[in-house]
Amino acid sequence: MATWDTNTQPASAASLLVWDPIDTARLLESVANDAAGANVLFTGTTRGVTAGVLTTQITKRLTYEAHEPLASAVLARLRDEAVAQYGLTACAIVHRLGEVAVGETSVAIATSAPHRREAFAAAEWLMERIKREAPIWKCEEGADGDRTWLHPDSGLHPDSGLHPDSGIHPDSESSSKPRPVLVDSFGRVHTDLRISVTDRCNLRCTYCMPLDVAFKPREELLSYEEITRVARVAAGLGIRSIRITGGEPLVRREVAELVRQLVTISGIEEVSLTTNGLLLEEQAADLRRAGLHRLNVSLDALNEDAFERIARRQGLARVLAGLAAAKAAGFQSIRINAVSIRGLTEGEIVPLAEFCRREGFHLRFIEFMPLDGESSWSDGQVLSGREVRDVLVRHFGPLVPAVRSDAGQPAIDYSYADHDIANIAMDTAGLPTQAAGVGFIDPVTQPFCDRCDRLRLTADGQFRNCLFSTTEWDARHVLRTGGSDDEIARLLYDCVLSKRAAHGIGTPAFERPARAMYQIGG
Ligand code: SAM
Repeated sequence: MATWDTNTQPASAASLLVWDPIDTARLLESVANDAAGANVLFTGTTRGVTAGVLTTQITKRLTYEAHEPLASAVLARLRDEAVAQYGLTACAIVHRLGEVAVGETSVAIATSAPHRREAFAAAEWLMERIKREAPIWKCEEGADGDRTWLHPDSGLHPDSGLHPDSGIHPDSESSSKPRPVLVDSFGRVHTDLRISVTDRCNLRCTYCMPLDVAFKPREELLSYEEITRVARVAAGLGIRSIRITGGEPLVRREVAELVRQLVTISGIEEVSLTTNGLLLEEQAADLRRAGLHRLNVSLDALNEDAFERIARRQGLARVLAGLAAAKAAGFQSIRINAVSIRGLTEGEIVPLAEFCRREGFHLRFIEFMPLDGESSWSDGQVLSGREVRDVLVRHFGPLVPAVRSDAGQPAIDYSYADHDIANIAMDTAGLPTQAAGVGFIDPVTQPFCDRCDRLRLTADGQFRNCLFSTTEWDARHVLRTGGSDDEIARLLYDCVLSKRAAHGIGTPAFERPARAMYQIGG
């Protein structure tokens, strides 16, 4: 006989998810106790007829599928939250998997509380949350034999890539398609993971780091093996692109070795790296050989004085040599990132654009965010993308909006209407390099949170769901205490589900995170 897993016992997949009909009477019995003045049983039942405005749909049966460890972890978390929030004396949840005939119970919730109000409210709250958050998909089979896969809440069809069959189990290396389960409560699908490999840097940019910086002890940073393990689990949950960042990633020894490990992970389609370029001349060829797909180089100024004023160190010539080496190594589509700060970078806009147009680099201007190490950011210092664009249009003429190839991309890209191919540098094969465009990443004046598909792993092994997240999920603890891959997956899943709708810069509720950009990974 099945035993039910109430909140008084530890969660296990076996009792929260079942493949056989649910004995609802026994479930209710399992929550009864002396302190309870009210016991509530809620059952969700497979409906045979759905009456619409114009049509009536007949359902023959439903089939439920789930990533079981994640789904049971979510159900257990919701159950425990309900107990705490409503003061329940006991609570049990059971969800069916597999085929459920019309009229059968697909989900059952039993709650007990000293008073009926709490028992009812908790059951209702739980049903709504399960619908929204549990990674359980259902397939409706109609009378005509048509089958439609739906996520209970988002209504996403399996062709969207969200159905569990569309990918691999985290432990499985056999399928090439990742299993996309990193969907937050606003329906945003997460496919991009930023991995910081160090908080150290060889520059001291005013907008990022304090001058008297104290770095994390090395033993607190994840090893490459630990990072690769996390990345493999993340790939199993639908992460497809990884960006290595820092601090300055090239100051950490043998980053090319990490690239080699990451590019072999099943499901990872792109590994890119963002660097200040100072050590690129020495490392570009190695990175290319390791399989790095793309490079972003941060360069805010082409004038040595301005460079030093921003970076508080010298190094412009080395960055330029690094860029040349990257091109020579065969990197295509190199992006240059430039932070725009009022009173500091206006004079660099046109020279940077001229340089990138000539060299075939794609230039992106980024608005200054409140993530500087000295906490001196003010909104008055934000030189908006709009203002930078106006400067470019005045100088070069019209900008033509580019087609968006990636919906999650935060930048709004343009090409120059006047672009003259004769002025674009040739690559090593004697062909013109990619037509250089210009883009604007405007997180302050034009937030793009609604299409954010990013998660972050800090160098010391904390998952974050936003640059401005004030909460972190400790993957290092799981890694260093013998935790399983499923535990890492659960952490990532919880991290995604806790993601807020927006960062809220400029709103009264905005809270600056405790960490600065170099400690998170930009
Ligand atoms: N050191 C590497 C580099 O320079 O690209 C990687 C780390 S850096 C933190 C990543 C990116 O974040 C850089 O392009 C940098 O300009 C940007 N960044 C840092 N602090 C920022 C801030 N407060 N606002 C906007 N962008 C920032």
